[in-house]
Amino acid sequence: MGAIIRMNESLLNESLLIDMLKCARCGKCRALCPSFKENKWETSSARGRVLLSLGLMQNKIPMTKRLISDIFSCFICKQCSELCPSAVDVPRIIENTRTLIHKKGLTPSPIQLILDNLDESKNIFNMDQEDRLLWTMNVEELIENRICKPAEIGFFVGCLESFKGSLGVIPEALILIMDALKIDFTILGEEEWCCGNPYFIAGDSRHIANQFAEHNIQKMAALKVKTVVTTCPGCYRVWSSIYPVIYGTLPFQILHSTQLLAQLIAKGELQITNLLPQKIVFQDPCELGRHCGVYDAPRKILSTIPNVRLFDFENSRENSECCGGGGLVKAVHPNLAKLQCQNKIKQYLSNKIDQIITACPSCLDNYLTSLESNPETLTIKDLHELIAELLDLL
Ligand code: SF4
Ligand code: SF4
Repeated sequence: MGAIIRMNESLLNESLLIDMLKCARCGKCRALCPSFKENKWETSSARGRVLLSLGLMQNKIPMTKRLISDIFSCFICKQCSELCPSAVDVPRIIENTRTLIHKKGLTPSPIQLILDNLDESKNIFNMDQEDRLLWTMNVEELIENRICKPAEIGFFVGCLESFKGSLGVIPEALILIMDALKIDFTILGEEEWCCGNPYFIAGDSRHIANQFAEHNIQKMAALKVKTVVTTCPGCYRVWSSIYPVIYGTLPFQILHSTQLLAQLIAKGELQITNLLPQKIVFQDPCELGRHCGVYDAPRKILSTIPNVRLFDFENSRENSECCGGGGLVKAVHPNLAKLQCQNKIKQYLSNKIDQIITACPSCLDNYLTSLESNPETLTIKDLHELIAELLDLL
């Protein structure tokens, strides 16, 4: 055991090794792993990936292309850990294994490209930082005097919503809502860098990820914001769970935008009177739900909408399945991501759901792609967009 620990000291400590050995004899969660359901290979389940990880960390098996492919078919969704009797943190093990792969220079090229883009341009798309404000074209006059100005709330927009045209409606809707409620807010604009989430999920352990954290924290702190709000669950997880580990206690609180809106509803400052006579479901984003424990805020918001029927499946909240958009799987295995999403869509169609609501740019993006080939009876909408529409702001 000593030799094993010496071999990859930072990646395999004794408690992790014990967890991995327990997992190797179990397999209880296999049937619920979304990538196992599709691939039906043991190496696509939590136990299988943990066994591969153990073999690699003990230097007992070669780092083959097939093995790397299996490690990158994990959605980091944490569904296995939710049910695990031994509380094994599978996403942590997978991220450590991805670190090992990254250190050998064998990270799959679509993911390495994202990391190279981050190094070079501070965003995942390798776009000019000046283009970070392209999404604001419909709300320009609401933000032109608010960029990098001291304010109560610092809205961290994130790369996906800033640069991907179909997702720009998410920050636009939140800006409209905050402006209508006279909330004092700022955004960093060109000064915003990616939160760094791809570095962490890809297992890239270089110091550069810390520089992203320090940059974003210092920019927000300089504006004396009291609360950083983000609409992206990935950014929220990084700001609330990873930045404090890198930086220590942050000089502001972190909220996901659904928590902010739920607080405004509780205070009576946000009221929705327009009707929504539909049967809807909320897609729990994995990084908001299982990773950060935020389940109630979005449901509190949606349940205040008059006439709405908010439907919760048995496998929602803690047991909700990933939409297929997590863990960077989409970059390496786009078909697996799409199939997982289509499975969820089938469930919704058979339960006669009218509309899927989510509060995550990755979920929205994945559903928009996967719904293209489905009947128009089912639609997907971002929660902020829905609320802005019901307030007649959009
Ligand atoms: S993650 Fe937990 S439940 Fe799943 S196989 Fe490993 S030990 Fe068993
Ligand atoms: S984190 Fe999700 S995809 Fe990965 S092994 Fe666990 S259940 Fe499967």
